Amino acid sequence: MLGDSYAGYRAKLVEAVRARGVQDLAVLHAIADVPRHLFVPRALAGQAYEDTSLPIGSGQTISQPSTHARAIEALHLTGREKVLEVGTGSGYQTALLARCAEQVFTVERVAALAEQARAALAAAGITNVSILVGDGTLGWRAYAPFDAIVVAAASPAVPRPLLEQLAPGGRILLPLGDRAGQRLTLVTVSADGSCAYAALADASFVPLRGTHGFDD
Ligand code: SAH
Repeated sequence: MLGDSYAGYRAKLVEAVRARGVQDLAVLHAIADVPRHLFVPRALAGQAYEDTSLPIGSGQTISQPSTHARAIEALHLTGREKVLEVGTGSGYQTALLARCAEQVFTVERVAALAEQARAALAAAGITNVSILVGDGTLGWRAYAPFDAIVVAAASPAVPRPLLEQLAPGGRILLPLGDRAGQRLTLVTVSADGSCAYAALADASFVPLRGTHGFDD
């Protein structure tokens, strides 16, 4: 994607994300590389490189790039991890994760969004992602265990299947709270199964639906 007409806008976006305190170079490189305009509706492509959230259809939103960047930074990825994402949405966060980890498995309940994300990821040349249409609160057992799990929707609690599908020493990042407001929380699970919770920031995500989410 180097040399495309949006590269200058992306460089400005990197500076905006850095100004918000993100330092992880792999994350900043991912922001510099991933063509966010491919992941937003065509009519909004002109705003794709502003640090703002945007509507992506089906009543869902793509988060602010700096929010994604902070979240991924908190996972301390080295590039060797297998990551599960719950709530593919536009696929933009999926693409950033794919740049920072080895393999990304992502689950989206809305088939139309999963299809759009699949097309955008292909257009962006990202190949280390597998997409499943279904209830992500159940995880993706066939590919477990995961080194890190990211939930991109507001969760009332940590879904038990996700805890069960985490590798020893793994971490789960999710917005914990009610529909009105959440805290973006990093849950670290030690080898003996005990969990440590660290709240990173206030957050406002769309609700997680499904078996271990809010009622449909
Ligand atoms: N990070 C995304 C935005 C995600 S919005 C981006 O970069 O675009 C949250 C997404 O979670 C929505 O697409 C919603 O449909 C999805 N979602 C909600 N509950 C879900 C569930 N149980 N399983 C899978 N996806 C779910």
